[in-house]
Amino acid sequence: MNVLVINAGSSSLKYQLLNPDTQEILAKGLCERIGIDGKFTYKPTGKTAVKAADVAMPTHSEAIQTVLNALVDKENGVIASMKEIDAVGHRVVHGGEKFAKSVRITDEVMATIEECNPLAPLHNPANIIGIRACQQLMPGTPMVAVFDTAFHQTMPPVAYTYALPYEYYEQDKVRRYGFHGTSHKYVSQRAAAMLGKPIEELKLISCHLGNGSSITAIDGGKSVDTSMGFTPLAGLPMGTRAGDLDAGILQYLMNKHGMNIDEMLNVLNKKSGVEGISAISSDFRDLENAEAEGNQRAELALRVFDYSVKKYIGAYAAAMGGVDAVIFTAGVGENGPETRESACAGLEFLGIKIDPEKDKVRGKEMDVSADDAKVRVLVIPTNEELMIAMDTAAIVKG
Ligand code: ADP
Repeated sequence: MNVLVINAGSSSLKYQLLNPDTQEILAKGLCERIGIDGKFTYKPTGKTAVKAADVAMPTHSEAIQTVLNALVDKENGVIASMKEIDAVGHRVVHGGEKFAKSVRITDEVMATIEECNPLAPLHNPANIIGIRACQQLMPGTPMVAVFDTAFHQTMPPVAYTYALPYEYYEQDKVRRYGFHGTSHKYVSQRAAAMLGKPIEELKLISCHLGNGSSITAIDGGKSVDTSMGFTPLAGLPMGTRAGDLDAGILQYLMNKHGMNIDEMLNVLNKKSGVEGISAISSDFRDLENAEAEGNQRAELALRVFDYSVKKYIGAYAAAMGGVDAVIFTAGVGENGPETRESACAGLEFLGIKIDPEKDKVRGKEMDVSADDAKVRVLVIPTNEELMIAMDTAAIVKG
């Protein structure tokens, strides 16, 4: 079975055609600058790649048509006809409280996704445009929506309720939702496979540390708490996002610098995090290089990040009453031994101890904990596209 996975943003669209049964990727790539001019990238497995070529893409329809043309192209295509695309899996950012799992897309589902738009005004409308463009070009092909928030719908009220007047939850739906759910779900399943235990018996802490970062407590396969909140701005400091802070700071800075709320949020989303502290970069490689050259602000930014990761690990071990394994995934989690070791340092009292020799690993599945450690520390490359394709296949096959 071949599944086309689509991740549509407002001006970009990532795609991957893969077989969830064999996990084989047939082709993948990216459409960028949709609505501006259009750039197309295409990497067919075992054939010639197309590197960022100019292709007019006034709307998402032309972008998806370009993808489909490439997939069935006589020379560089990977399938003979569109009939070989059995289903399409769409990443959708926000499913609110309406979706606790992936669903087959119907008119009713589309209307419900639209109802969630106010919760993710930058993302959901773009996801919807991507779905509609696919429906128009591929009528009859089953489509599934896979939500970033769905995995976290198992959180109990004690974890998702903010200490605000309760009507803001009841009337305005203000609560913790959490994000990166597809990634946390995927790595937790892989962790259970690596440990050779049923996921129902495991307490896991999944650290997705990338440009955007979040940590999730997963008890018995279910998300029971997560660091992102009503929006992805909460929790850990990130590349350029502030993460948790004292809300009183907003009033103080807005008054002092004459900022309106949009300008303030722009600072919190785009000018804060490790880039804000270091004034160097949001990229952890740049910060590690600067630290090695003696730059103290780069060092401070990295330590603030590691310290925050450590605090969440401690908090979630407490929340679950124990932990069997800590998982590191995404760009920094998969490739950053420094971050892993710094975040886990001093957690021996919990049974967490990394073996620095094993921890030299980058980007592949590996148990990096010391032999005598009670808690396993696992490096697991995430694969959100595969998880979307697996969910899509399971739903379509019924
Ligand atoms: P996104 O949230 O954009 O998907 P990624 O998961 O790709 O982000 O993570 C991007 C981050 O991963 C960047 O900060 C980058 O510096 C970091 N990263 C990638 N490779 C390495 C590496 N070899 N060492 C340290 N950090 C790395």
